[in-house]
Amino acid sequence: MSDTFKAILVSRDADKKQSVEIVDLTEADLMEGDVTVAVEATTVNYKDGLAITGKAPVVRRWPLVPGIDFAGTVIESSHPDWRKGDKVILNGWGVGETHYGAFAARARVKGDWLVPLPDGMSPHDAMAVGTAGYTAMLAVMALERHGIVPDRGPVVVTGAAGGVGSVAISILSTLGYHVIASTGRNAESPYLIDLGAAEVISRDELSQPAKPLAKERWAGGVDSVGTHTLASVLAMTSYGGAIAACGLAGGMDLPTSVAPFILRGVSLLGIDSVMAPKAVRLEAWRRIGADLDLKKLSTLSRSIAFDGIIGAARDIVEGRIRGRVVVDL
Ligand code: NDP
Repeated sequence: MSDTFKAILVSRDADKKQSVEIVDLTEADLMEGDVTVAVEATTVNYKDGLAITGKAPVVRRWPLVPGIDFAGTVIESSHPDWRKGDKVILNGWGVGETHYGAFAARARVKGDWLVPLPDGMSPHDAMAVGTAGYTAMLAVMALERHGIVPDRGPVVVTGAAGGVGSVAISILSTLGYHVIASTGRNAESPYLIDLGAAEVISRDELSQPAKPLAKERWAGGVDSVGTHTLASVLAMTSYGGAIAACGLAGGMDLPTSVAPFILRGVSLLGIDSVMAPKAVRLEAWRRIGADLDLKKLSTLSRSIAFDGIIGAARDIVEGRIRGRVVVDL
């Protein structure tokens, strides 16, 4: 009989009532793919929280092993790019949504979805960054492409104490930006300053319905909250600035006007990590290796055991997780 390994499985019954349990699987249970990976580390992202709690329709195949990202070692490959022993990272591509994901000791995926683990980074480090951190880097790269360099003025980061926010603050401050961190958890101010924030403001300053335009406060920003917060951030962006929108932790709507766009030439930059082309991913992970102070990863992450994933998933959708959560297998 094949060796079994632990996996988290979400299922639903005939009435579409969702449940989650820890089960034993074998490699024969995994889905099709040309590379099998021994998962060494994974993480709990906001999307994993939505998948496990069923709070939003992330899971689109039943039953499913959730988990949108992992780092590990190739144990079997028929893909030309990968050989047994290679260290790899996976983010997105529908893994943990339509394809069995990271919350298992083994994953079988398409080799085209994998990128190499950057030199000097352990699987644990890579998952302390995780999809949230890789998305933060995609947002920083988008701001740079738009010419938002440190000399242009401050940048704002919303949802600051969350995963995307924490990594964005670390990267932006290391690159020399003056970072204004917006948080609903004032007690986390020392943590945010430790990560590199120059100023901390209250979430309440941005979460009320926005005026079309307000006093110019920043040249750019990384928003993981959406709704009134993103509308306020846009209204407060200075002439020619840009905001990278990557999340919906506050809501999916965007109750704004065209005023920031047509009167101040502000740009809204959309960030998607899931289907980002391979060249963009390789560049993002190269930049993470180069521009993220790895020492800050221990400040912004903590480890949990496999058994803690379901609890962490519930916490993250309630906004109770600080920074990043790493699961070492
Ligand atoms: P976290 O839960 O770690 O962080 C979200 C943060 O948003 C919270 O920590 C909190 O920060 C703030 N927040 C939570 N609820 C609210 C609310 N109701 N109103 C205002 N602020 C709120 O999640 P992640 O950082 O992992 O992800 C953030 C968002 O980015 C999610 O929506 C996620 O789906 C999205 N995302 C998108 C990706 C993409 O490809 N575009 C990839 C990865 C993530 P604080 O307490 O400091 O205020």
